[in-house]
Amino acid sequence: MPARKPVLRPSWQTSNFKFVPVLVAAEWNAMMNLLRGRVLMLLLLALSSQVNGREAAYEPLTVNIEPIKLTERVYYVKGDLGPISTSNNGYNSNAGFVITDDGVVVFDVLGTPSLGAELLRQIRLITDKPIRRVIISHYHSDHFYGLEAFKDAGAEVWAHRLARDYLATEAPTLRLEERRNSLAPWVDEHARVIAPDVYLDGDTDFLLGGLRFRIFNVGPAHTPEDLMLMVEGEGVLFAGDLMFAGRVPFVGDADSKGWLRSIERLIQRDPKILVGGHGAASTDAATDLKMTRDYLRFLRQEMGKGVEEMLTFDETYQRVNWSAFSDWPAFKAANRKNAYNTFILMEKEALTAR
Ligand SMILES: [Zn+2]
Repeated sequence: MPARKPVLRPSWQTSNFKFVPVLVAAEWNAMMNLLRGRVLMLLLLALSSQVNGREAAYEPLTVNIEPIKLTERVYYVKGDLGPISTSNNGYNSNAGFVITDDGVVVFDVLGTPSLGAELLRQIRLITDKPIRRVIISHYHSDHFYGLEAFKDAGAEVWAHRLARDYLATEAPTLRLEERRNSLAPWVDEHARVIAPDVYLDGDTDFLLGGLRFRIFNVGPAHTPEDLMLMVEGEGVLFAGDLMFAGRVPFVGDADSKGWLRSIERLIQRDPKILVGGHGAASTDAATDLKMTRDYLRFLRQEMGKGVEEMLTFDETYQRVNWSAFSDWPAFKAANRKNAYNTFILMEKEALTAR
C-alpha cells in the first residue's frame, strides 16, 4: 500500500503549537527589516525627487514648443502634421492648457518626457499657478508620454476608466520598447508609462478658479477611452483625436462607426474654437471635421464593399481610387494600415449583422 502523502496545512492549523510563535517572531523580524529598507528607500526617493524629479536629465529638444493663445485663459501647442520622427522629436500632436485663478488644467501632454518637460516650462513662463490636473484624452503614446514632469510638479492625472484595460495588457510595454527605438534619445530607458490617478466613469463636470469644465465621454471612437474637454465660458472644446485637422487620421483599432457618431455630436456642441489632437485649431468645427469624417466614411464604404464582394484585402485596397486623400500629410504612413484595420472591422460588423 503506497504511503499517504502528508497533508499541508497553514501553520495555525498544525498541532505543533511551539512552531507557530517561532515562525511569527522570525516573520516579524523579517518584516521590520523590510520596512526599514522601504523607509530608507522612500526617503532617498523623496530626496532625489526634490533635487531633480527624474533620475536623469530630460534630453534637450531640437524643436520649439510655442504656446498659441486662443482666449484670455486658454492656450494650445501645435505639433508637426506628419507622423512622429526623430526630426520632429516626436512632436506631432497637440496639447492645451487653461489658466484659472486657482491653478492650471492641462489637456494632454505630448509624446515624450522631454516634450512634456518643455510644455511645463512654457506654461511656467506664463503663470506660476499650481498645475492642478492633467486630463488625458486617450492613452496613446503621442498624448501621454510627457506626464513625468507634470506628475513631479504635483498634478493629478485623470483619464477614462477604460484606459485601465489598455494599461493591463502588454501593449503599453511593447509600445514603449518601440518608441525607445524610433524616438531615441527622447524616449530612453528612463521613460515610463504613468497610469492615471483618477479614472472617470462617464461625463464629469468640475469648477476651478471660476471656470466650469465639462469632460465628455465620447468613446468608443478613436479609442475606447476617448474624452473631450469643454471650457465653458471660453467656448473652447479640446476634442483629442476625434479631430485630425489637415492630415490623414490615425485609425488604429478605432471604432469608426462610433467615431462618426461622436463627430456629429461634437458639431452639435457648436464650440467657438475646436482643438483636435493633431493639426491647427478650428473656428469652424463643421468644415474642419469634414476631412476626418469624409475619410472615415470613405474607408468604411470602400472596405465594406470589398468585404461584401468577398474580395481579399489586397484586392480591395488595389482597386480603390485614393486620389481624394493621397496628397494629405501622413497618407503614406497611415493609409494602408487604416484601410486594413477598417477591412477587419467591416468583416466583424458584417458577421454580427447576420
Ligand atoms: Zn494622436
